[in-house]
Amino acid sequence: MAQIGQILVDVPTMQTNDPYSYAIPAELEHQVQVGMRVIVPFGRGHRLVSGVVVGLSDVTSFDGKLKPIETVLDLAPVLNTELRQLADWLATETYAFRITCIQTMLPNLLKTQPKRQVQPTTTLTPGEMATYFPEGAPRDFDATKLDDATVAGLLKLQRAGKVEVVYEVKDKAAAKTTTGITPALTSAKLQEIAGEVAKRAPKQAELLAYLAQMSANKVVAQATVAKQAGVTPAVIATAADKGWLTKSTLEVYRDPFHQPVTPTQPLKLNSEQQVAVDRITQAIDGQKSENFLVEGVTGSGKTEVYLQSIAQALQQGRTALMLVPEIALTPQMVNRVKARFGQRVAVLHSGLSKGEQYDEWRRIDRGEATVVVGARSAVFAPVENLGIIIMDEEHESSYKQDENPRYHARDVALWRGQYHHCPVVLGSATPSLETRARAAKGLYTRLVLSKRAKAQPMPTVHIVDMREQLKQQGDSDFSEPLMTAIQERLDRHEQIVLMLNRRGYSSFVMCRDCGFVLKCPNCDISLTLHMDTHSMKCHYCGHEEAIPHVCPNCHSKKIRYYGTGTQKVQQALEKLLPTARILRMDVDSTRRKGAHERILRQFGEHKADILLGTQMIAKGLDFPNVTLVGVLNADTALGLPDFRASERTFQLLTQVSGRAGRATKPGEVYIQTFNPDHYAIQLAQSQDYERFFVTEMHMRHQGSYPPYYFAVQLTASHEEEAVAAKAMYQIVDALKQGLSKNAIILGPTPKAIARVKRKYYYQIVIKYKQEPQLRPVLEQIRQAAQVPARHGLSVTIDSEPMNFM
Ligand code: ADP
Ligand code: ZN
Ligand code: ZN
Repeated sequence: MAQIGQILVDVPTMQTNDPYSYAIPAELEHQVQVGMRVIVPFGRGHRLVSGVVVGLSDVTSFDGKLKPIETVLDLAPVLNTELRQLADWLATETYAFRITCIQTMLPNLLKTQPKRQVQPTTTLTPGEMATYFPEGAPRDFDATKLDDATVAGLLKLQRAGKVEVVYEVKDKAAAKTTTGITPALTSAKLQEIAGEVAKRAPKQAELLAYLAQMSANKVVAQATVAKQAGVTPAVIATAADKGWLTKSTLEVYRDPFHQPVTPTQPLKLNSEQQVAVDRITQAIDGQKSENFLVEGVTGSGKTEVYLQSIAQALQQGRTALMLVPEIALTPQMVNRVKARFGQRVAVLHSGLSKGEQYDEWRRIDRGEATVVVGARSAVFAPVENLGIIIMDEEHESSYKQDENPRYHARDVALWRGQYHHCPVVLGSATPSLETRARAAKGLYTRLVLSKRAKAQPMPTVHIVDMREQLKQQGDSDFSEPLMTAIQERLDRHEQIVLMLNRRGYSSFVMCRDCGFVLKCPNCDISLTLHMDTHSMKCHYCGHEEAIPHVCPNCHSKKIRYYGTGTQKVQQALEKLLPTARILRMDVDSTRRKGAHERILRQFGEHKADILLGTQMIAKGLDFPNVTLVGVLNADTALGLPDFRASERTFQLLTQVSGRAGRATKPGEVYIQTFNPDHYAIQLAQSQDYERFFVTEMHMRHQGSYPPYYFAVQLTASHEEEAVAAKAMYQIVDALKQGLSKNAIILGPTPKAIARVKRKYYYQIVIKYKQEPQLRPVLEQIRQAAQVPARHGLSVTIDSEPMNFM
C-alpha cells in the first residue's frame, strides 16, 4: 500500500506545478486515491490548505519528515485519468498552474471549500476553552482565516485527541431528495394479499397490485407511486407499516428545464447535409479522430447535421458533447437537442444554480446522461466514451476564457477528440480565420452547406449610406428606406428584428460648452446613462452615480446625451410607430433569470412585431415569420483598435442577416452604415464568406497577424502606472534576450483602455512563427511574477488572445 501521496496544493500566492509529498496516515491508507481532493498542512505555520492527489508512491526524494495528510474531502476521485492528463496539458498550453486548471474543470459547488467546525471531544480545561473557544463550542474552522498560533494549538489538541473537526458536507446537503418506494415482498405474495384485502380495502388492493408489477429492486418516488396507483400517501404509509413495501431516500435531480419540449424525428436530409452526415458517421464508426469544419450558410440546416451525427454516435453506444456559445442566448438550440434526445441530455451552463449544475454534472459522471450540451466550460464535462464533439458557432469569442487558465474551448475539444478517437465537428456560417485557414491546409475536412435547407433564397441585403441620410433628413437613427420596409412588414403582419450594437440608453454625457465628458473615477472610460435606473454606470467596474444636470467642470446647463442606446431607440421607435408592439432585448432587459427565454418565446408567439436588441439577438434565432432585419449601426466595432475588427463586423452582420427569411417568405436586410465602402460591409452585403476570407487573409499577411503568426499577449497591472510600466520594460528585456531575431515584440504600451478598476494596464504583444525558447522564457516570467504579485503587481500571459484592447 502506498505510503506517500503527491499533492498539488492550492496556495494562491505560492503556486507551483510540482506536487508536494505527504505521508498518508494509517487510517487513510485505503481511502486516498489519485484524483481526490484532500486537506493538508502547509508551510511553517501548518496552515491547512486544500489540494488534489496526483500521485501515490512508496518513496520520496524529500528527506525530511513528511507531514501527514489531514483528511480527504472526497470519498471518490473527482477527476478521472483523462481529465488529469488534460489538466496537465492545459497548464502547459495556457501558462497556467495545474491546480488552477483542475479547479476550472470542477463544478462550482466542488470548488468551494466545505464549511468545517471544530469541537471538543472531551472536557477541556477552562484555559483551553478560553483560548480556543472564547465564544463557546463548536466554532467555525476555516484554517485560512485563523492565526497560525490558534491553528497550531488546535492541531496539538487534536493530536492529543481532545478536539475534532467536523465537516458540513455540502455535497450531501446539495443533493435534493424525496421518499422512494420499493416492494418488500415477492410479486406473487403481493398479489395474494391483494386478493385477500380486495373487498375490505380496495385502495390497498390497488396499491398491492401496483407493487406486484414493479420489478423487485426498483425504487420509485412516492409521489409517482401515489399518482400511478391512484392512492393517497396515507394508504402508502399503512402499506409500509404492514411491511408490504419499504421506504428509502431517493435522490432527485433538479430539472433545469422548466419548459416541456415536443419530441422530434430526424428530418430527411438534403444532399449536402447527407454528404456531411455520411462523412462524420464514417469517422465515428472508424473511431477516427478526424476533425471537420461544417461551413454552412445561415439557415442551411447545420443543426440537423449535428443531431443526426449525434444519433450515430449514440447508436454505436458512445456519447456526445455539444458546445454552444452561450446557452442563455440559444434556448432554441438546447430545445432542439432535448426534443430529439429527451432525458439523455444534460445541460451545463453558468445560468444554473450551483445545485442544478452539480446535479447535471453528476448525471454525466454516473453515465446517466449521454448527450451533454453546454457553453465553454462544458468542454470539461466528465463524459466518458465520447463518440463525437460538436462546437457550434466555432468563431464566437466567448469560447475563449479571459481569465486564468486562458484556454480556448476549441483547443480542448480537439485534445479530447484525439483522446477518445472521435471526430470533432466545428460549425459556422462565418468560420474564424484560424479555422478556415487550417481547413485550407488540410488539417480539417471541410464540409460545405452552400444552400439553405429547404432551398429558400438567401435574404436580399441593402446598404444604407447614413452620410447621405444625414444630409437629407438630419440626425435620426432610422433611415427612410428602413422605415418604409418596417411599415411594409407591419402592414403584412410579418416580424422584424432590429439590431443596435450597444447597450444602455445613450453612450455618454458631454457638455456642449466645454466638451467635458463624465468619466468613471476608477477606469479610463466614459460613464453610460441608464434610463431604467436613472443613473450613470461604468460598464467595467460597476461604479454608479447620479445623472448630472449641470456640467461638473464649467457649471453650464448645456450638458446632453450623445450616442444611441437601445432604450433611447425604443422610445424613438415608439414615437414613429405608435401601434407597433416592440420587445427589447439587451443586458438591462435580460438581467433576470429566464428573461431571455421569455422574450424569445413572446416573439415566437407573435406577441410583438419588432424585436429590438443588441448583438445578443444575432445568433441562432430561427423564427419563420421574420422577413426583415435592420442593422441600425453597422460601424461601431470597425474603429476598434483590434486586428479582428473587420472579422467581427463581417461575422456579426452575416449572422444577423441570416435571421431573415428562414421559412417560406423571402427575407430582406437593411444595413445602416457610415462606411459603405468598407470591405467587411460590402462582403456582408453579398454574404460572400469565401471572398471575405481571401481578402482578410491578405490583410493579416501584410500586418503579420494571426493566422500567419502566433501571438502571445502579456499584461501588467498596478495601481501605480510607473510600477506597471517598469515591470513591462524588464519583461521586454528578458524576451529580447531569450527569443530569436524573428520574433516581433510590440510594446510595452498602455492598453487601449489604460485604466480599469483603479489599476493601470500595460501590454506587450509577441508575434512569432517558431520560437522554441518561448515557453521556458515565459515560464520564468511567470515564476518571477509571483513575488511582486504579493505587492499588487499582476502579470498575465495570454496565448492567442481574443482581445487586443
Ligand atoms: P443553421 O443552424 O445552419 O442556421 P438550422 O439548423 O437552424 O440552420 O436550419 C434552418 C431551418 O431549416 C430550420 O427551421 C430547420 O428545421 C430546417 N431544416 C434543416 N434541415 C432540413 C431538412 N433536411 N428538411 C427540412 N427542413 C430542414
Ligand atoms: Zn462644461
Ligand atoms: Zn469603472
